[in-house]
Amino acid sequence: MERTINRELPAQIGKTVTIAGWVDVRRDHGKLIFLDVRDRSGIVQCVVTPRASEAMEIAKELRPQFTVAIVGELKERPENMRGAGPFGGIELSVQSVVILSRAQELPFDMSAELNLDTHLDYLPLTLRTARSRDIFTMQETILEGFRSSMRKQDFTEFTAPAIVGEDAEGGAAAFRVSYHHDTSAFLATSPQFYKQIMVGPFERAFTVAKIFRAEKHSTTRHLSEATSLDFEMGFIESHREPMAVLSRCVSDIVSLATERHPDMFERFDLPPPVIGDEIPTLTLREAQKILGVTEAPDLDPAGERSICEWAKKERASDFVFITAFPTKARAFYTYEDPHEAPYSRGFDLLFRGLEINSGSQRMHDYDALIGRMHERGLDPQKFSFYLQAFKYGLPPHGGSATGLERMTARMLGIANVKEATAFPRDLNRIDIRLSE
Ligand code: ATP
Ligand code: MG
Repeated sequence: MERTINRELPAQIGKTVTIAGWVDVRRDHGKLIFLDVRDRSGIVQCVVTPRASEAMEIAKELRPQFTVAIVGELKERPENMRGAGPFGGIELSVQSVVILSRAQELPFDMSAELNLDTHLDYLPLTLRTARSRDIFTMQETILEGFRSSMRKQDFTEFTAPAIVGEDAEGGAAAFRVSYHHDTSAFLATSPQFYKQIMVGPFERAFTVAKIFRAEKHSTTRHLSEATSLDFEMGFIESHREPMAVLSRCVSDIVSLATERHPDMFERFDLPPPVIGDEIPTLTLREAQKILGVTEAPDLDPAGERSICEWAKKERASDFVFITAFPTKARAFYTYEDPHEAPYSRGFDLLFRGLEINSGSQRMHDYDALIGRMHERGLDPQKFSFYLQAFKYGLPPHGGSATGLERMTARMLGIANVKEATAFPRDLNRIDIRLSE
């Protein structure tokens, strides 16, 4: 018999159907065995009675995470026996059970709250928990929202390389890989150069890129491999235009998440993010004045948290832009504000206490860019490929990069970005722990 997906069961009351999935929980109640069976669409309760004697023998063997195919008759549950969730009103009265694969005894109870290390040690198992499925369903929605907003705003998607010849940020943060002809290459720390180059053909370009950072961070917000939602646009007057595009993009993502996952915000016990018509914007100096801190080239993590609390309280916003960082504290290609030197036309977007995005207007003049490279001790010769984009004419342009994992974490109030990454890589882990 053809398989019915759990989602379709409520329309099948009174019919005999086949379902398939994972045993989530088995409960023995006197002569009855109850099974919660999970498939891609949700969990449905099945009940095995002694009348189905063969099924009962098999049911007694079942443990969590066994995969099974079950034939049964779909029944409505009595009013006083209804469960939670979308399928709480129905139950499958089991006629037969086939075991598709067995699971060994689990190392822990899947419904228990696990510490992060245990969660990460057992990802092939723990990614199956309701919490993880929520997190990565939300992440998919964020990705979908990003792509659809970008397309709506007339951007073209391209794929950026992960292996590059020279580090985009010109820093020491790149992983080195051995490449053909006894040369070294690097894993990209950002798709920055490539999205700027793509302004040439497309004017407005975006990419979902893997970025790799070798800094030896051990924090709740850094990964060695992250996913960057990048865009770049030409013919701008200042950083205000990329900020407006980003604002609309974030607003579209929040709308989609709010509309699609109201239940998820309830389960994570926090409201959907609040984003007004305009995201409040402060210059770094204004932010520092509010915080009562002396001038520094950036906000520290505590400062990011405090200024977000301010934005929430004073402007009723879960988002806040910080602009006008000192040019020398930003990447070499950042445009200096001609009226505000030595401050730049760079911006950060903070969301619920954390930087999730950085962007700026970029330098577009070939000679000026080469001059800046010299100032920073970078050898333009090494960047000659990238520099062609400017040599052959690129309009004033700018863009930004959002960390997908950080955005996911802040969306659901998850403390550590590693939990918002299906397979996080960090200082001590590539799937398995590197050292004790
Ligand atoms: P931070 O100052 O918090 O270390 P950054 O300023 O070095 O971050 P950018 O180079 O501005 O990061 O990268 C743009 C965005 O990409 C960041 O705002 C963040 O959301 C994300 N991102 C950058 N590096 C990481 C990382 N190591 N782990 C997770 N996300 C990252
Ligand atoms: Mg940044």
